[in-house]
Amino acid sequence: MKVLVLNCGSSSIKYQFIDTTLQVALAKGMVERIGMASAILTHQPHDRDKIKIVGEILDHTIAIEYVIAVLLSPNHGVIKDKKEIDAVGHRVVHGGETFSDSVLITDTVMKVLKDNIELAPLHNPPNIKGIEATRNHLPNVPQVSVFDTAFHSQMPPHAYLYGIPFELYKKYKIRRYGFHGTSHRYVSERAAKMLGKPFEKLKIITAHLGNGCSMAAIDQGKSVDTTMGFTPLEGLIMGTRSGDMDPSVILYIMGKEGLSLAEANTLLNKHSGLIGISGESSDMREIEEAVAEGNKKAKYAFDVFTYRIKKYVGSYTAAMGGLDALVFTGGIGENSVMVRKNVCLNLENLGITFDDIANNNVKGECAISTKESKVKVLRIPTNEELVIALDTEQIVNKQLTLNEATGVK
Ligand code: ADP
Repeated sequence: MKVLVLNCGSSSIKYQFIDTTLQVALAKGMVERIGMASAILTHQPHDRDKIKIVGEILDHTIAIEYVIAVLLSPNHGVIKDKKEIDAVGHRVVHGGETFSDSVLITDTVMKVLKDNIELAPLHNPPNIKGIEATRNHLPNVPQVSVFDTAFHSQMPPHAYLYGIPFELYKKYKIRRYGFHGTSHRYVSERAAKMLGKPFEKLKIITAHLGNGCSMAAIDQGKSVDTTMGFTPLEGLIMGTRSGDMDPSVILYIMGKEGLSLAEANTLLNKHSGLIGISGESSDMREIEEAVAEGNKKAKYAFDVFTYRIKKYVGSYTAAMGGLDALVFTGGIGENSVMVRKNVCLNLENLGITFDDIANNNVKGECAISTKESKVKVLRIPTNEELVIALDTEQIVNKQLTLNEATGVK
């Protein structure tokens, strides 16, 4: 099956056109600066050069029209007819308490997605816009929604409840949901394959470290805890987000600095984390360069970042009553030799014997612990788009079989 995978943000759309049989992206690209006069479409067919088109792209409907057009383009395209797009899979950030799995998009599903906007006001509206725009351009093509929250939907109440009045959970659905679920699921399943053991028999900690960062405790194939919570702000230090802290801090700052709710939100989400502590950058490569040059604040940022991860390795090992594998993924997890090393330093008591040489020479999916290490430390590149494409294929095939059985055309 050929699946168009879309990740629609407020001013950008990332896409991949995936052949699920070959498990390869035939083309991938991105539309940036949607709504602005100089929007940019970058497109990379798997067997030809990357191209860049600059022009006016006023909204998501026009952006998706461009994506389809470039997939069909005689010089840069990978298909000859729109009909070759068998299905579309969307990354949707928040499934709320309703969706514990990926789902075929129907009118009822759209209504629930709209009801969930309050839970993810920044993310869900552009996801919905993308689905509606796709419906306009490809009205007969089935669409599937794959949720960032779904993999964490089986967390037990002791992991998802906050210590606030229970009525507030009931009234406003304030609880921990967790995000990056598609990535945590993919890399933990791959880890089980690498270890040659059944997923259901393993205790795995996954660390997805990109611009957004989160960890998950995966026991017997299920996410039993994760660091992000009600929103993607909780947990680890991130490029621009604070992660865990005493909630009174924000109340105190709001009082002292006279910040509005919106300003406080921006402070925690956009000006905190690595950029906040270092004052230099939200980008780990630049933080590492600054550390190498002796920049003290950059060193604080780096140390707070890695120490927080290390603490969660310990707490999740305790939560699961043991550990078989620790997995690093995401832009930082896959590429930063220093972050992996600092997280794993002095964890021999937990059964981790780190292999410095392997850590310096990573390639593809590989182990960075010694052969003797009781707990395996793995580097696994994530592939969220492939998971979305495979889920989409499975759900669409199931629906087609159901239609056949019931005579629906
Ligand atoms: P997103 O969460 O937006 O998908 P990525 O997963 O691409 O982001 O991760 C981006 C982060 O990965 C940035 O902080 C970047 O500096 C970091 N990164 C990428 N390559 C390296 C590297 N070689 N060393 C250290 N950090 C890296």
